[in-house]
Amino acid sequence: MIDPFGRHISYLRVSVTDRCDFRCVYCMAEDMTFLPKSDVLSLEELDRLCTAFIGKGVRKLRLTGGEPLVRRDIMTLIRSLGRHLRTGALDELTLTTNGSQLAKYAGDLVEAGVKRINVSVDTLDPEKFTRITRWGKLAQVQEGLRAARDAGLQIKINTVALRGVNDDEVLDLIGWAGREGFDLTFIETMPLGEVDVARVDNYLPLSLVKAQIGQRHTMLESSHTTGGPARYVTLAETGQRVGFITPLTHNFCESCNRVRVTCTGMLYMCLGQEDSADLRTALRADTDDTALNDAIDEAIGRKPKGHDFVIDRRRQTPALSRHMSVTGG
Ligand code: SAM
Ligand code: SF4
Repeated sequence: MIDPFGRHISYLRVSVTDRCDFRCVYCMAEDMTFLPKSDVLSLEELDRLCTAFIGKGVRKLRLTGGEPLVRRDIMTLIRSLGRHLRTGALDELTLTTNGSQLAKYAGDLVEAGVKRINVSVDTLDPEKFTRITRWGKLAQVQEGLRAARDAGLQIKINTVALRGVNDDEVLDLIGWAGREGFDLTFIETMPLGEVDVARVDNYLPLSLVKAQIGQRHTMLESSHTTGGPARYVTLAETGQRVGFITPLTHNFCESCNRVRVTCTGMLYMCLGQEDSADLRTALRADTDDTALNDAIDEAIGRKPKGHDFVIDRRRQTPALSRHMSVTGG
C-alpha cells in the first residue's frame, strides 16, 4: 500500500473496543456513553480485517482501545493473529494497554507470539494515579508489569506529560524505568474528544520535559526507531533510552507509515483528521473479502498529508470530536 505522498503503509493499529476499566481525565469523560455492542466488529470480523491488511503489506499490528484486554475473549483473537507471525507474514504483533489485566494475560500473550507491549503509566504516586485514571489502582498495574516482565515481555512505558500533575516526576519516572528495565516515552496531550478538564491547563510541551532531563543527564540523539512516531535520545550516564512523541510541537507526518481502524470498522487514514472509510459495510458485503480489499485500496488513495492539531487559549474546543479511546493510541 502506497499513499498519494509516496509513503508505504506497513503499520496498522486496531482499536478492539471503545470500553475501558479506567477513565483517564485527558482521555474520557467520567460518564462516557459507549457504543452498542451490535455496532462493534466481532472477533472473527476483526481477524478478517487484520488479515486483509496483512495481505496488503502490513508488517506491524498493534491492538489498542479503549482497553484491549477488557474485551471478552480477546485472547482468541490474539492467538489467532499469532499465526501470521509464524508464517512470517507479520513482523510484530503488539498492544497498548493500561496494564490492569496483565497479571492475568502476560503468559498467554507470550505464548501467542507477542514480544513487546506498551503500558501507560503517568505517575508513581498511588493517590495521583487514581486521580488521573479516576478508577485505576497503581498497585494492580505494578503487579501486571511484574507479571509481564517475568513472562519475558519487553515493556515500554508511555507517560502523558501533564502540567501541574506529573511534571515534578519526570526524573523519578526515568529512574524507575531504568531500574525496572523498561523503555520510557513521554507523550504530549492531543486535543481529542470532549473531556471534563480544560486541556490547555494541562498541556505541557515536551521541550520543557527535555529541559528538565537535560539538567540531570546528557542526552545523546539516537537513531533508534520502533516504526512509530517517537524520537529517542540515549542518556549518556545510564545508557537508557527515552522517547518523545510531540504531535503538537513537532510535525511527524512526513514519515507516517500507519493507519487506524476503530472497533466499528471505521478506517482513519490520519489520527488528526476526520476523513474515514467504512470497512464494516465492506466486511459484511461478502465473504471473500473483495469489497473489503477494494475499500482499503480506495481509502489509502486518500490518506491526507498530515494533521493540524492546535491547543491554545482561543480554541478551547477539541480539534476532533472523537476520543482517543475510539481510534486508540
Ligand atoms: N487503554 C490503553 C492505554 O491506556 O494504554 C490503550 C488505549 S489509550 C487511548 C492509548 C494511549 O493514548 C495511552 O498511552 C494514553 O495515555 C494516550 N492518550 C489518551 N488520550 C490522550 C490524549 N488526549 N492525548 C495524548 N495521549 C492520550
Ligand atoms: Fe482507558 Fe487508556 Fe483512555 Fe486511560 S488512556 S481511559 S486507560 S483508554
